[in-house]
Amino acid sequence: MKHLILFTLFSGALLLSSCNCNKPETQQRSATPEPDSALAAHVITAAEQAALTPGKVLIAFKEGNKRFIANRLTHYNFPDQVRKSADGQYPEAVILSCMDSRVPPEYIFDKSIGDLFVIRVAGNIIDKDILGSMEYACKESGAKLIIVMGHHHCGAVKAAINNVKLGNITGLLQKIKPALDRSSNFDGDKSVKNDRYLDEVCLNNVMVSINQIKAQSPILKEMALKGEIKIVGALYELKTGVVMFLE
Ligand SMILES: [Zn+2]
Repeated sequence: MKHLILFTLFSGALLLSSCNCNKPETQQRSATPEPDSALAAHVITAAEQAALTPGKVLIAFKEGNKRFIANRLTHYNFPDQVRKSADGQYPEAVILSCMDSRVPPEYIFDKSIGDLFVIRVAGNIIDKDILGSMEYACKESGAKLIIVMGHHHCGAVKAAINNVKLGNITGLLQKIKPALDRSSNFDGDKSVKNDRYLDEVCLNNVMVSINQIKAQSPILKEMALKGEIKIVGALYELKTGVVMFLE
């Protein structure tokens, strides 16, 4: 419940800060970070990755999401980037996202080839293979930031609430059950018809994944404690394209 209150306050503040309804067009445009033309054919290098901090990467992701919302994405030169990235990769972050077709990480953060490790699975759940992938991304490949990104109206979360039992989906939904337990004190209708409840479970599902990363990966936990990486949660709002970071 505490998270829902924080989330509600934060999303309210975001809505207020993103509402430019009464501002002239020129002011609206100046508030949005410009697409960086220098990035269009650039691929991150080992030296550039080494110079990054988790905080700097997080700021860049927030700015990329602002460009996405404003429809001012960088016009990447993919053939150039393909050639330049062929000999190695030095991504700045790893994202664990739901597989929902409406939540494409590279677009959402205005990133391109070589920038991100993307792990996608229904309900952004954790298992050993996903933890191994994250450990590879951070410990072996130098990524500075782990983002666990859920989204509003997640079908996998809805299915877990509805206790769907079907084939291998049953086992996957079991991994979302801890988020339901974490939402057990919710005051109100605990069904998928209640958006407030659904939001709370989606949020708690992100928090469960973050806690599991820290509890089940001593490597990532130690890197986070040393400040070598940052692990943050996020929720993607389907109706606006806004990513709300849960820091
Ligand atoms: Zn989903």
